[in-house]
Amino acid sequence: MNKNKKFFGYTGRWAFVDLNHLKVELQEAEPGIYRLYLGGRGVQAYLNFQHFKKVGWLKSPLSPSNRIIIGQSSLNDTTVPTAGRGSCSFISPFTYSPRKQPWLGNRPPVFGLHTHSSCGGLFPNMLKRAGFDQLIIDGRAEKPVRILVNEGKVEILEAEPELFEEKNGKKVLRRVSEIIDFLNHKHPGSSTVCAGPAGWNQVSFACLTADYHRNFGRGGAGAVFGSKNLVAVTAYGRWLPDYYDREKFIETARQIDESVKNHVHDPNWTASFRPETGTTWWLDRAFNGGYLGKLGGYLPWHNFSEGYFDPELYKKVSTRAFLEIAGQHRVCNRCRHILCSRTASVSSGPYAGQGVRPEFETIALWINCCLTDREAIFFLNHLCNEYGVDTMTFGSVMAGVMELNEKGWLKFPDAPAFGDGQGMIKALEQIVYGSSDLGRLLSQPTDLVVEELLKSLNQVKPEEIVRCLTTAYAGLGYAGIEPKVFPGMFTAYGTSNRGRGDHTYAWTIQAEEAGLQGAEDLAAYVVGSQVGKALTDSLGLCDFFTEDFTSPTFLEMYQALTGFEYTAESLKECGRRIYTLERHINNRQGRKRDYDAFIPPKFLEPLTAGPYAGRAVDPVLYSTILDAYYRYWGWSPDGEASI
Ligand code: SF4
Repeated sequence: MNKNKKFFGYTGRWAFVDLNHLKVELQEAEPGIYRLYLGGRGVQAYLNFQHFKKVGWLKSPLSPSNRIIIGQSSLNDTTVPTAGRGSCSFISPFTYSPRKQPWLGNRPPVFGLHTHSSCGGLFPNMLKRAGFDQLIIDGRAEKPVRILVNEGKVEILEAEPELFEEKNGKKVLRRVSEIIDFLNHKHPGSSTVCAGPAGWNQVSFACLTADYHRNFGRGGAGAVFGSKNLVAVTAYGRWLPDYYDREKFIETARQIDESVKNHVHDPNWTASFRPETGTTWWLDRAFNGGYLGKLGGYLPWHNFSEGYFDPELYKKVSTRAFLEIAGQHRVCNRCRHILCSRTASVSSGPYAGQGVRPEFETIALWINCCLTDREAIFFLNHLCNEYGVDTMTFGSVMAGVMELNEKGWLKFPDAPAFGDGQGMIKALEQIVYGSSDLGRLLSQPTDLVVEELLKSLNQVKPEEIVRCLTTAYAGLGYAGIEPKVFPGMFTAYGTSNRGRGDHTYAWTIQAEEAGLQGAEDLAAYVVGSQVGKALTDSLGLCDFFTEDFTSPTFLEMYQALTGFEYTAESLKECGRRIYTLERHINNRQGRKRDYDAFIPPKFLEPLTAGPYAGRAVDPVLYSTILDAYYRYWGWSPDGEASI
C-alpha cells in the first residue's frame, strides 16, 4: 500500500493554455475537487463554472471567452474494461438562440448550453501518458496554432502551412486524416485530436476528431477550436498512474473484468449484442422489436413524421445489411469484451472505400432523411469524419431542409430532397466549405436559420417553418428513437443538460418497454439515469460499461486506485452534484423550464403507421413529468438549480 503521494490514479496536473498571450501555466490539481467531482466531465463543469464566475456569463459561444477543456479521469488507462473515454466541455455554438422570437412563443434567449462530449480512441489515455488530467484552453490566438503535450510539458506551436489548403480562395484546414497523418509523422507514437475544415469554418455543429474516426461529436466543439485559431492537440508520453493499493486494485479490477466478460455472453444483458453488431443492433430493435415481444415501430422516418415505413426498404439498411459490410474490430484503447466498433468497406460503385461501420444513431437519423442506400450512408459517414462534422446534427438539419424543400419553400436549386444521397453529399460539402448560399445558411444554429429564411419567404408563416425544424429553440437535435413513442424518453430528450434531443444522458427504452409508466416513476428513472451518466463520463468509462458503480467490488476497486473511499450513496451524490452544477451554468445561459417544456410542433402530430400508430407527445403528461422531475432533483418548479 502506498500512502505517501498526493494523487493516485490521477496525474494530478492541469495545464491552463492562454491563447491570447500564447502562455501555458501548469497547476497542481486540487485533491478536494477530485473528491467532489471525480474527474473528466465533473471537474470540467467545476473549472468552467469558476471561469464564468470570473469573466461573466457567455453571450457568444464563438467569442474568445468560451473556455474549452479536454481531459480524462482516474480510471483512464487502467485495466478496467472501457477505461479509455475522454471528456470535452464548452459552451455549445449549436444551441444558441440569442433573441426572443414570436414564433417560439417569445421564450427567453438561450446563449448556448454547457455541453460535454465524450470520445474514445487512444487520445484520452495518451493525454494521461503525457502527464495531464485536464487541458484548459482560453482565448484566441492571432495566428493558427496547435498544442503539443509531452512528458509533463505543454507547448503552443505555430500551425504548419502543410495543415492547410486553399478552397474557393480561402485558406482552410485539410481533411482530418491528412492532419492526423501529418502530425503522426511529425510526432511518432503520438495521438491527435483535431478540428477539420468544418471546424475551421466555424460550422455550428462541427466536431473534434481523434485518431481518425473517434469524435467529441455533439454541440460544435470543432467550431470552438476554429474560433480560437486552434488546429489540433497532439499528445504522447509514458507516464503511468500510481496506485493507492496496487494489489487490491489488480484483484478487484480482475473481478470486474470477469463480470463484464460474462455479461457480454449473457443474452439477458443487452450488452450481449455488441461485439458482433455493435450499436446497429438497435436498428432491428427500433424497426422490428423483438425485445420482450415488443413490435418496434420507433425508427424515425421522413423528418420524424413516422416511426415505421416499408419493410422492404428497411431491409436495405437493417442491422444485417450493415453487418455485411463490416470488417475487423477497431475499438477504443482499453476496451475489452464489449468491442462495439468495427471497420467497414464498400468494394465498388460511387461510394467505394474503406472506413468504419456507422453507428446506430447516425444511420437512424439518415434513415429519417428517407435515405435507404447503405453505401451512401457508409460514404457520408466517412465524409463527416473527414470534414469534422457531427453526423447526428447533420442528419437532423438535413431532414428539416428536405421537408422545407418538399413544401417548395426553399429557393436553393441544390437543396436535397428526401432520400437523395448525392444531394446530401453536395449539401455537406457546401456547409463545410461555405461554398453556396445554402451551405452558409445551414452552417448556423437553427434559430438564426429561421430568422434568415423568414426574410426571404414572405408567404410562409414562421410557425410553418419552425414545424419542419425540430432543432428550433436551441435544440441539439433529436436522436434515433422516434420522440413521439416513449414519454420517458421524451423527458430524457427534453431535459438533457447538453441540449434538447440528446439521448445519452438518460435512456429509458428497455424500461418503458418492460412497463415503466406514470409521471412519478418516469421522472425518477430519468433522474437516476442522468446521475449514472454523469458518473460514467466523470470516471472515464464508456456508456456501454455494464457494471454497477455502486457495487461493493467497484467501490473497493476505486478506493484501491485513488485512495478515495465512497459509499454507494456518496458516489451517487457526486453524480448529482455534477449534473446540478451543469444545470446551474445552463440556467445562467438562459435555460429554464421554458426550454425543457418546448415541444416541437411536429411531435404533437400522431404517428399514422406501425405498432404505435396514433401515438404523439402528450403535453399534459409531459408537463406533469416535468413537475415531478424538478422535484426529484430539488430544483424550483421553473427548472432552476441552486448550488
Ligand atoms: S464499447 Fe465501443 S465505444 Fe465503448 S469503449 Fe468499447 S469500442 Fe469504445
